[in-house]
Amino acid sequence: MKFGGTSVADLDRIRNVARHVKREVDAGNEVAVVVSAMAGKTNELVRLCREAAPLHDAREYDAIVSSGEQVTSGLLAIVLQSMGIDARSWLGWQIALHTDEAHGSARIQSIECDMLRQRLAAGQVAVVAGFQGLGPNNRVTTLGRGGSDTSAVALAAAIEADRCDIYTDVDGVYTTDPRIVPKATRLDRVSYEEMLELASLGAKVLQVRSVELAMVHSVPVFVRSSFGDPDAQGLSGANLPDGTLICDEEEIVEKQNVTGIAASKDEAQISLRNVPDKPGVAASVFVPLAEAHINVDMIVQTISADGSTADITFTVPATDYDRSLSVLESASADIGFQLLEGAEDVVKISIVGVGMRSHAGVAAEAFRALADKGINIRAITTSEIKISVLIDSAYTELAVRSLHSVYGLDDV
Ligand code: ASP
Ligand code: MG
Repeated sequence: MKFGGTSVADLDRIRNVARHVKREVDAGNEVAVVVSAMAGKTNELVRLCREAAPLHDAREYDAIVSSGEQVTSGLLAIVLQSMGIDARSWLGWQIALHTDEAHGSARIQSIECDMLRQRLAAGQVAVVAGFQGLGPNNRVTTLGRGGSDTSAVALAAAIEADRCDIYTDVDGVYTTDPRIVPKATRLDRVSYEEMLELASLGAKVLQVRSVELAMVHSVPVFVRSSFGDPDAQGLSGANLPDGTLICDEEEIVEKQNVTGIAASKDEAQISLRNVPDKPGVAASVFVPLAEAHINVDMIVQTISADGSTADITFTVPATDYDRSLSVLESASADIGFQLLEGAEDVVKISIVGVGMRSHAGVAAEAFRALADKGINIRAITTSEIKISVLIDSAYTELAVRSLHSVYGLDDV
């Protein structure tokens, strides 16, 4: 069971979390709990580090920002004990959860869990501080913002848990953002691959790394709400309560062509006009960008009628837009473009679904739907289970709504 920051935001909520834990213990389950820091706490700690010194030692940053989870794990253990439940808190180093030494965004390398398993088998609830680990230099590390999801999935894999329940402030994963499309519906099941696409595209329910990890280790992840009366939610037996199960594709019987639609505003478009169409041109554009650590996403190339020049359009993270333009300006002699253009008011809309692997015409439907609304497509990319289009951001809502209904996802 993993509880996010809003679920442990104050003592009342921690008491509610304890009741969720008690429900599972009473049902005879062995329970390990992973907690985040209280909502806002990590931001506050990060701010303190920056105020202390804009350029600070990453090891001390980790010592500071990991403290929020130390507090909530101890508090939850106390509350559980006061309810008569045997519980003990565990910090990253006590488990130990070993990571590499990339302070601030460390990767988990191994988890020792013999001791934890013995305690669980003896009926003790383990309350684990998320987000933190132990580096090779014997110092505390943190796993990157949102990292307690990854702590939870990694721990679930290590102790071979039946399932990893992620309790959060929403009751599952939706077909699209319900704030954009009120008719969005909660998905009962979504495959790891689909969730990876949706998570990386702005469906900010889970840290992307946690989904990758769940996929690699085949840990079923169940996203559910921590709010409301824990006893009214029913037990986590074969009949799942309200929520979304993230699982293997094989476990999804009714495969839709399209499972969800995501919109990502943090992209910017760059176009190079009339670059010579000869070997090495793409390298002259993308090598300097890669050297500047700029992550290029969509890439489209079109050739002029006489075949002598090409236009190259691609997207970069919005935060890297200005930097990308100056990198390309500096490389202009090498590339040989006539014009460098860009646009920041763009949005990437992605249509995701494992069903499209075996169905023709899914992309055509999207293009028709957008055309009917007079929406121009600036760039397109596809993968086996995803179609992405880049459009003007003014049309975000119109596009997402139209696509949502075209693919039959509207709640009726
Ligand atoms: N408290 C950490 C953060 O805010 C980790 C987490 O909540 O997942 O990033
Ligand atoms: Mg989170």
